[in-house]
Amino acid sequence: MTEAIAKGEAVLLRQAYDKFVAEYSFKPVAAAAAPGRVNLIGEHVDYCEGFVLPVALPFLTVVVGAYNNSDECQVLSILGNGQEVKAIFPATTASGLKPGEPAWANYVKGVLANFPEKVSGFDVVIVSDVPMGSGVSSSASLEVAFFTFLEALTGTRVEPVKKAQLCQKAEHEFPGMPCGIMDQFIVTMGKKDHALLIDCRSLEAKHIPMDSTEAVILVVNSNVKHQLTGSEYPQRRAQCQEAANKLKIPSLRSADINDLAELKCLKCDELVCKRATHVVEEIARTEEVAKLLPQKDFSEVGIRFYQSHESLSKLMEVSCPELDQLVNIMKSSPGVYGARMTGGGFGGCVIALVKKEFVEDVKRKVEAQYSGSPVFFVCQPSDGARILKLQ
Ligand code: ADP
Ligand code: MG
Repeated sequence: MTEAIAKGEAVLLRQAYDKFVAEYSFKPVAAAAAPGRVNLIGEHVDYCEGFVLPVALPFLTVVVGAYNNSDECQVLSILGNGQEVKAIFPATTASGLKPGEPAWANYVKGVLANFPEKVSGFDVVIVSDVPMGSGVSSSASLEVAFFTFLEALTGTRVEPVKKAQLCQKAEHEFPGMPCGIMDQFIVTMGKKDHALLIDCRSLEAKHIPMDSTEAVILVVNSNVKHQLTGSEYPQRRAQCQEAANKLKIPSLRSADINDLAELKCLKCDELVCKRATHVVEEIARTEEVAKLLPQKDFSEVGIRFYQSHESLSKLMEVSCPELDQLVNIMKSSPGVYGARMTGGGFGGCVIALVKKEFVEDVKRKVEAQYSGSPVFFVCQPSDGARILKLQ
């Protein structure tokens, strides 16, 4: 059985520090870390200004570095599989910082370009154990870890909401991914043993206590990532905006069931109606789960997890056979309150709310019945981004 185990801050920091010294032959002076995240519920609604309820994970991206007395930045990243990738690009005190190859460096360059101060050349090593492209937001983890590193390096501090927004802007502008605000928000503001209810309209966020003594969040990485055209996410976003435009409201956050009926009257495209129905109902489910969680009403939370999955599969059409299969296995497993795909979809992870004493049984059942190669982790809600001390 494959289990993903978080290496922990100290181990990753040591690895990054040692690599920095070996690579650049001097010592790093600044360091920062930021986690991955998993969304409990509120999927494909952040870009509609809805409510989302993610938690930060114990998996981390750690960044260490120092100024190099030049106008050039060198960034070396050690990926989860041990592979090393390196990028060299101009500092913001020089000119010519723009998106390009290698593609992964656009996340870092975008953050540098959006940092509220010009930064001269630096050398950096990045180490991460956040699974990449698995729906746990390695991209936001990288952006926010790098932003926090720049705060440590320059001494310029940025308040958390602004920081999350600048990292989101970075992802829009450089990798060209029109993501919502959820990932950067939770990665910046996560808190141990809490989920974060984010109002993606007002950008207010509330920590929701999440006690994991009775029920735990089991995450199963399907280990599939369907290579589609790449336009699926922007297309869903555009369809939701089209529904809002038809209703003459800024976003679907302001819509209710009556508006869904009106969309049908307006002879709105069937796909657009389906997307809008998902968004309106998913926002309501998310607010309900945020109330149910502290009451430990896990059965009711679980029902909403299953509803959310059904809706993502049938209305939003962002699931895939492997995710559907995993959720179906969960449905027939004793001790599972509910399960759903999490993240953008078309692969990635499923989360399940499971009675603690049943977790091992559930894992064994998934291992035996799932057609792919699952990777498991039990999700301990963890802290968000922070500056790290170097000895
Ligand atoms: P997710 O955010 O769900 O993991 P994305 O496709 O949004 O998936 O982001 C994954 C991409 O982010 C990777 O393909 C890579 O380009 C970049 N990335 C994430 N973490 C790192 C890292 N530690 N080092 C280099 N690139 C990274
Ligand atoms: Mg991402």
